[in-house]
Amino acid sequence: MRKINSIEEAKEEIKKFKISDCAEDDVFFQALEEVLLSIYPLFKSGELYTLSAKNAIVKRLVMPDRVIKFKVAWLDDDNIVQVNTGYRVQFNNALGPYKGGLRFHPSVNEGILKFLAFEQILKNSLTGLPIGGAKGGSDFDPKGKSDFEVMKFCSAFMTELHKYIGPRVDVPAGDIGVGAREIGYLFGEYKKITSSYDGVLTGKPFFFGGSLMRPEATGYGVIYFTRKMLELEAKESLKGKICTVSGAGNVALHAIEKLLHLGAIPVSCTDSKGTLHDPRGLDLELLKDLKLKQRQSLQEYLKTHPDTEYTPISDYPKNAHAVWNIPCYAAFPCATQNELTANDANNLIKNGCISVSEGANMPSTKEAVSIMLNKGILLAPAKAANAGGVVVSGFEMSQNAAMQKWTFEEVDEKLKATMESICEKVAATAEEYHVKGNYVDGANIAGFKRVADAMIAEGI
Ligand code: GLU
Repeated sequence: MRKINSIEEAKEEIKKFKISDCAEDDVFFQALEEVLLSIYPLFKSGELYTLSAKNAIVKRLVMPDRVIKFKVAWLDDDNIVQVNTGYRVQFNNALGPYKGGLRFHPSVNEGILKFLAFEQILKNSLTGLPIGGAKGGSDFDPKGKSDFEVMKFCSAFMTELHKYIGPRVDVPAGDIGVGAREIGYLFGEYKKITSSYDGVLTGKPFFFGGSLMRPEATGYGVIYFTRKMLELEAKESLKGKICTVSGAGNVALHAIEKLLHLGAIPVSCTDSKGTLHDPRGLDLELLKDLKLKQRQSLQEYLKTHPDTEYTPISDYPKNAHAVWNIPCYAAFPCATQNELTANDANNLIKNGCISVSEGANMPSTKEAVSIMLNKGILLAPAKAANAGGVVVSGFEMSQNAAMQKWTFEEVDEKLKATMESICEKVAATAEEYHVKGNYVDGANIAGFKRVADAMIAEGI
């Protein structure tokens, strides 16, 4: 391969890798492109990582070790057989056992899981813990299903998945549509099939060896990261500031909770049907009851607080989302990939937002990222800002291996320290590679280097 002299040439070379053979890879390419262009300073700085290097690190890193795809047949409550597709993408285990969540959502396909697994490699690398990268899931939609149906689906899914996982091989966890209930059913089935009571999944209910604070971990972690980033960049703290949040799942609700702990004013959240805007600050207890316990729509919030503003999704302007048009100091996209568009980024900037922290995985489109970086918004990328979930998963693996139980306070302290040290590392890396204040490049470079060095050390 010839020597690469410019970022444009790097882009062209990357295209030639022909890493994709599946029609759903757009989102995977989006994730790859961002990372490969971010790490361009590394190509210039030394022979080890260049696109033309003999060890072909980049070429090896962008191809998953394996993609496992399987049929999941299960019986619904009307005794009708339903069929879904199950997946596990084991992307890279240079740093430790494959590790990453399972997503149950109708949008799940191979391309989305490849993007998530690829991001997970670098995210897990940034944590400093000994874990590789993977992701899995199914196009099964838990929404509207009975508990028994969810249980039957989880059993059928694990009947196949158990062949490929193990506490030293691959340790799945939750993601969208997979929480403690699903992990409990998956663990129960794994135990039945293998007779083995081990830490093969994280995010387990507490009495199965789950860690305290796993449900809170991702949301709290996003706020710990943001607090540190604002401090490092000499910006005003979150106290007393209006913050906007999207999503209404585990990540969003716990981000809102930690914002409230810090004296910030979170005013919004969203679900698949619309946006809620409560300028007085959200009623978190009500939201938790509606979304986590009763699994109801956000519109129900209006029954208790009728003067709250609610915008149904059909009323959103084209390619813009109501939630990102609310003036705020800091924004926290915590729903899903590509939920924050170029128009949204422009609206946030126009309304005075100074920082965007990604609680969801890759919530900002490529165009939105470049607008935000060009206009000087502090952008905390998902692979750094939302690493809190997998960090506490790593703690759960340690507790299981040592047959220990840490207290809530112990886990919280360790989470805070880890998120702050990720933030410091990302900031220092950005400075070292002459992109000071660019947390996107800092995270990609720091995450990549640790994996690349491990891959070089282990040979081919
Ligand atoms: N799904 C989470 C994430 O995106 C957590 C994964 C895990 O705990 O293994 O990082």
